[in-house]
Amino acid sequence: MAEQTSNPVVVIGLGRFGTSLALELTRRGTEVLAIDNRPKITQALAGQITQIATADATDMEALRQLGVPDFYRAVVAIGGDIEASILATSLLAELEINDIWAKAISIQHGRILSRIGAHHVVFPEHDMGERVAHLVSGRMLDYMQVDENFALAKTKPPKDYVGVPLGESNLRRKYGVTIVAVKAPGEEFTYADAETELSYGDVILVSGRTEQVERFAELP
Ligand code: ADP
Repeated sequence: MAEQTSNPVVVIGLGRFGTSLALELTRRGTEVLAIDNRPKITQALAGQITQIATADATDMEALRQLGVPDFYRAVVAIGGDIEASILATSLLAELEINDIWAKAISIQHGRILSRIGAHHVVFPEHDMGERVAHLVSGRMLDYMQVDENFALAKTKPPKDYVGVPLGESNLRRKYGVTIVAVKAPGEEFTYADAETELSYGDVILVSGRTEQVERFAELP
């Protein structure tokens, strides 16, 4: 089994998500072994990723021949074909890959992937849908669900909090949120402290429990 220090990653399934992931890892200097069973896909990406193979990831022999057991880390990026996603994940678990990531398209799919040995399950479509919902329905400029019930939002300061030092604003007590950083127009973000006074036109980063951040971001 490979050591944790080994950097390369196996990416299985080169749909939109797997391709973006493999290309971004490559851009960041990580060696990638990318696998897809569609020759058209692998041919189109040849030369852009360290190593790319046309193979069926539900075939243990094929995985062995590609040297997958030597990798410390692998990502199963197959979504649409749930059976293939589950089979490929279970083979990686059988090969005792130390760090298995898998993409799920539903909560049930994610549960199965965890049960059969995925160490991390990601829900890209669900997470992006949730994020975009916050952007289109509210005043947030960006939104990130950091944990099950903790969020970070980029928004504008509510008018009642403009011109008041944050230390005197009672924000934490009233709304349970913390303003982490502030950006004036044309400037960079700087950390907020008790003396920070917000101005119209500023952009702020707010953190806190999800519903508290949502409530705060709705303030006029
Ligand atoms: P996305 O929604 O990110 O585009 P998809 O689930 O549509 O993801 O794409 C999954 C990719 O996984 C496809 O390119 C498909 O060819 C590939 N794939 C599906 N089954 C297997 C398999 N058994 N072995 C290898 N690759 C597979």
